[in-house]
Amino acid sequence: MNVIYCDSLVIGGGLAGLRAAIATGEKGLSTIVLSLIPVKRSHSAAAQGGMQASLGNSKMSEGDNEDVHFADTVKGSDWGCDQDVARMFAQTAPKAIRELAGWGVPWTRITRGERSAIINAQKTTITEKDEVHGLIHSRDFGGTKKWRTCYTADATGHTMLFAVANEALKHNVDIHDRKEAIALIHANNRCYGAIVRDLVTGELIAYVSKGTLIATGGYGRVYKHTTNAVVCEGIGAAIALETGVAQLGNMEAVQFHPTPIVPSGILLTEGCRGDGGILRDVDGYRFMPDYEPEKKELASRDVVSRRIMEHIRAGKGVKSPYGEHVWLDISILGREHIEKNLRDVQEICEIFNGIDPADTEVITDEQGRKRGKGWAPILPMQHYSMGGIKTKATGESPTLAGLFSAGEAACWDMHGFNRLGGNSVAETVVAGMIVGEYFAEYCQGHDVDINTHDIQKFVDKEQNYMKSLLEKEGKFNVFEIKNKMKDVMWEHCAIFRTGEGLAKAVK
Ligand SMILES: Cc1cc2nc3c(=O)[nH]c(=O)nc-3n(C[C@H](O)[C@H](O)[C@H](O)COP(=O)(O)OP(=O)(O)OC[C@H]3O[C@@H](n4cnc5c(N)ncnc54)[C@H](O)[C@@H]3O)c2cc1C
Repeated sequence: MNVIYCDSLVIGGGLAGLRAAIATGEKGLSTIVLSLIPVKRSHSAAAQGGMQASLGNSKMSEGDNEDVHFADTVKGSDWGCDQDVARMFAQTAPKAIRELAGWGVPWTRITRGERSAIINAQKTTITEKDEVHGLIHSRDFGGTKKWRTCYTADATGHTMLFAVANEALKHNVDIHDRKEAIALIHANNRCYGAIVRDLVTGELIAYVSKGTLIATGGYGRVYKHTTNAVVCEGIGAAIALETGVAQLGNMEAVQFHPTPIVPSGILLTEGCRGDGGILRDVDGYRFMPDYEPEKKELASRDVVSRRIMEHIRAGKGVKSPYGEHVWLDISILGREHIEKNLRDVQEICEIFNGIDPADTEVITDEQGRKRGKGWAPILPMQHYSMGGIKTKATGESPTLAGLFSAGEAACWDMHGFNRLGGNSVAETVVAGMIVGEYFAEYCQGHDVDINTHDIQKFVDKEQNYMKSLLEKEGKFNVFEIKNKMKDVMWEHCAIFRTGEGLAKAVK
């Protein structure tokens, strides 16, 4: 049996896992991070728009503070979150952003001089005396009272992940990539690490640890249409559930983002609407102000997604070979703004749809309907998993001692029924900081007291299971079954759900 011992085992090398690993590494605990892929390619790298923290630096964030951020988070969660956790989060986010600046994240900053911003689709002039040159800038995001989302152009997750991964190396965190945790080792309601499959050699390894933290991200790939990468299959939640001891929380709380591009499902960040982009229907009409007069396109994501689907159901969708959609128009922001602040979005539109989103030309189609050449076809798709491994506010499972969780994989219940844009990458680093401390404390205060005979039983169980799969002679194709399940999830368990539909899906 191949066994690797360490003090702290972190399953998942995205922002949450790496930040928590820094907390244990800092204390001199031997720490291993497992990842399916090289950690710098974790899904956190896909985050575009930004990270919420109430710095209150820019003209449009004047008066912002932790209380306002807390209130927005609670309201955005449809009053469903744990308010103690939301409070702790909002208080810590400004500290986290400054820590990241110290680790080298090149936050977009306020530059000297007069500039214009699009505020509620109106060009507004901001002068030199309104803002301080050099401070960390922020943009508007859905469901927030103030401009609070700090960003590095539209590649925020990428810059954060590189900085945090580099910092982890400084603290001697040992990264084992191309490894897949497939089961947790546990005995007497305590977790002792994981059984792991080496994705290069196929061999099984037992990683035995004093404490284990799962940070494997979300479960978006259970849906047919999602912005999530292929690694977001929710394996962390699955292996926790399979212990029969750890529990999951809020699994039905799934977020659908209003603006992934059709048909690929690649996200066009909320920053598009935050910076002033608008939604248009088949007639080129801006429909959101009719539904949401106050926040318009920047109502929270669940609201905008539902409004789009209702509008399409009312016959206002644009028909296409890939189904109906509506348009996202950012051409009104002007080419200079797009090329500076939304360059990833521009590239996605060009590469995947052959559209230049800065093109302002309006053409008339065969039915006499007007359409901007730069408008991007969008439709709500699965985006974020509010549910996950149920934990206390310390990040520890209330039922399986020694098991912790952080980031999108976890449910310490910060988001309730809906997460605000920009609150997720903020959560990953804040949870990494806070939960990381409790995790480190646990690992410092406990020993590994499981015997090798018990560990062997877990290895044998997984080995036998894999063997049994290989020996099966059934005629069904596993990928067809998986795709069929994704279809069912999309049809019956997506934005609108009914008792009848859910029963059909289960059947
Ligand atoms: C397109 C897109 C854009 C986004 N933009 C924003 C944004 O602008 N602002 C914002 O706040 N949020 C945004 N989000 C959400 C945010 O990016 C994620 O919620 C967050 O980054 C998740 O981080 P994480 O560390 O929890 O997990 P991830 O970054 O998903 O990392 C998961 C890690 O777990 C590993 N792993 C998974 N399963 C296993 C296993 N079985 N064994 C071993 N390792 C495993 C993976 O290899 C990976 O290292 C966006 C999401 C998407 C999809």
